[in-house]
Amino acid sequence: MPTPPVLKIALPVPLYQHFEYRPPQGVDFDRIQTGVRVRVPFGRRILTGIVVEKCPGSSLAPDKLKTVLEILDTKPVFDPALKKLLFWVARYYQQPPGEVLNAALPKVLRKQRQISTDSNAIYRACTKNSVEQLLHRAPRQRQVFELIRAHPAGLTADEIAAKISHWRPFVRTLIAKNLVQKITDREVSIKAPRAVAESLTLNQEQRHAYEQIHRKIDQFGVHLLAGVTGSGKTEVYLALAQDVIGRGKQVLVLVPEIGLTPQLVQRIETRLNVPVALMHSDLSAGEGAQTWLQASTGQVSIVVGTRSAIFLPFRNLGLIVVDEEHDLSFKQQEGILYSARDVAVYRAKQLSVPIVLGSATPSLESQHNVRLGHYQNVTLSKRAKLAKIPKVKLIDLRSKQVKDGLSSELLQAIEAELKQKHQILLFLNRRGFAPVLLCHDCAWTAECVRCDSHMVFYKDQDIVKCHHCLKQEKAPTRCPQCGSENLMFLGEGTQRIENRLKKIFPDTAMIRIDRDSTRKKHTLQDKLEEVRRGKYQIIIGTQMLAKGHDFPNVTLVGILNVDHGLLSSDFRASERLAQLIVQVSGRAGRSESRGRVLLQTHQPEHPLLNRLLMHGYQDFSKEVLWQRERCALPPYSFMLLVRARAHQQNLTYQFLREIKSLMLPSTSSGLNLFGPIPASLERKAGMYQSQLVVIATSRTAIQAQLPDWAAIMQQHPLSKRVRWNIEVDPLETG
Ligand code: ADP
Ligand code: ZN
Ligand code: ZN
Repeated sequence: MPTPPVLKIALPVPLYQHFEYRPPQGVDFDRIQTGVRVRVPFGRRILTGIVVEKCPGSSLAPDKLKTVLEILDTKPVFDPALKKLLFWVARYYQQPPGEVLNAALPKVLRKQRQISTDSNAIYRACTKNSVEQLLHRAPRQRQVFELIRAHPAGLTADEIAAKISHWRPFVRTLIAKNLVQKITDREVSIKAPRAVAESLTLNQEQRHAYEQIHRKIDQFGVHLLAGVTGSGKTEVYLALAQDVIGRGKQVLVLVPEIGLTPQLVQRIETRLNVPVALMHSDLSAGEGAQTWLQASTGQVSIVVGTRSAIFLPFRNLGLIVVDEEHDLSFKQQEGILYSARDVAVYRAKQLSVPIVLGSATPSLESQHNVRLGHYQNVTLSKRAKLAKIPKVKLIDLRSKQVKDGLSSELLQAIEAELKQKHQILLFLNRRGFAPVLLCHDCAWTAECVRCDSHMVFYKDQDIVKCHHCLKQEKAPTRCPQCGSENLMFLGEGTQRIENRLKKIFPDTAMIRIDRDSTRKKHTLQDKLEEVRRGKYQIIIGTQMLAKGHDFPNVTLVGILNVDHGLLSSDFRASERLAQLIVQVSGRAGRSESRGRVLLQTHQPEHPLLNRLLMHGYQDFSKEVLWQRERCALPPYSFMLLVRARAHQQNLTYQFLREIKSLMLPSTSSGLNLFGPIPASLERKAGMYQSQLVVIATSRTAIQAQLPDWAAIMQQHPLSKRVRWNIEVDPLETG
């Protein structure tokens, strides 16, 4: 019996295949375009997928075929180039294509028919005050009002509807009462810039950098802008963006995290006098959809966003900038595993436009690409303003008196700066009060029952918490093993530092910035703004503070402990640590005031550390690249991880051993398989994780085998009992 024509559909499910469906009844098959969204039944769910192919017949028996419920579009949602990019991502990173396509759609389009103007509208409260009196007879109005008021950035219709049903009449009344305003469509993000600032005159180095890139502004090229912190890289981006926008094209600026966007957006808006659209995970679904639309219609000429912005449907993209290109955040670590920086390079090539990768501490990958002649290097060696880059001074902690992680030398330096009314930034990459709770009598330690890790002690809440699975419980008052009350805290986290400094300098305003203190939306931005305004004299923080922030009044940076990074087993640990030290140091003395940096360590003679401090990041990179070359590690080789997780340890091993034996026959020379080996944190949240490592001398050797390997894994009987994934070009190999 002849089968009917079918549609092949990519669905957001973790499978490497497309699914066949009959077209809906009464719809002319010939008029359905590939690339449109459809609603289909899948198991018990209804999913939104994308038609990727039309086939005259099916391989399935007709009675097995289900029918598309609804066709949502008349035209494809992605233009051909973007579609090609997304399929390239799916292929290169070997990620399920349906999930990649789905991730590139704004949230609104994953469910709804279209981005209606109404769903773009945002409702905002007109007053911050409570209106209890005014609305005490109208509980439903009050409920709606309180919800909207709780979100100063505004809520979309969808977001209100998710919380309160039949809200519309009440919102209408609130609008009539002038308590809520409805901001529609364009007004949401296309607002006129506040003030216009004069352009700065580029200094000689900046002009040279600008000209070097500008000469090739009409063609593909990767420009690695290696500029020390505060050298004015952003000014170079701005000058280039201005030209590109002047020619009617669009610019995409990728930044590692949203905390950095407000400052940058303001700088762009006032300087270039154009509206800037945003794209990051803190946006509401409506705002995200808005940016998506504006990029695709060309309404907006510049978008600043975090990694997913690389998938926006630009109408006429003319330049991509990746700021802080070395940053790990460009690599997505869950869901679809891709590197936004590397995808950006592919996209620039595809569109024949230039891409600028900027950093004070370029990744070794990018530096290697410069050596190979794939990327052009552009250097900014001096700070744009008067202040010199501070030198880092080591404080040798060995056999010194150190209380709560603070040496007396550092404390004296802090005191001196406080007297001068300067700001001090203290950096420690560890949250909580103390990383280990230990019994002094029997050496029992508080460990997570679900992970191979210690529970971190939080003094303020008197709890212990696992940073890996977030399990938390009340801190014990006596040792569960021997009953002793002699419990002690080992090591220090940011809260312990804060605690101690508050005792030593009780009258000093200080703030702690880490993931514990910035969990709520916007708090990071607000806190950073307060720091810039000078509200605090001491700032204690983690990693978050290392990234591109400009704190003009910070004159002393203290790096409390780097020994952890010096001892790590990940081959990239030294690169990360060097980047961190240089970036954190770069926060000091950015304006006229001179800065200094003190780094506490138990290993003052560590060769790489010394190399970095004496000869700088570039020289350090040379040495580390040479070490990588000797060991045939990336970027001198290419890596792939296959990870497996299961509740039973032996299952992950069995799965990996068996697929390894199936993979082996297809490996060519120059391709090596290692493992299975346990992950650095083998047990996490009750699941065991182990991995296979593939190392190849060429990218193509891996790429050629990938689809077959993925099929082997997907078809393996154990694949249903083991959670597994493939990561191409992993950055964290633990
Ligand atoms: P980077 O992005 O390299 O960290 P920025 O572009 O933020 O550096 O510049 C650092 C500081 O120097 C900023 O305050 C900026 O306004 C200032 N600056 C940059 N270029 C110039 C210039 N050509 N003239 C005067 N000031 C400049
Ligand atoms: Zn004990
Ligand atoms: Zn845990």
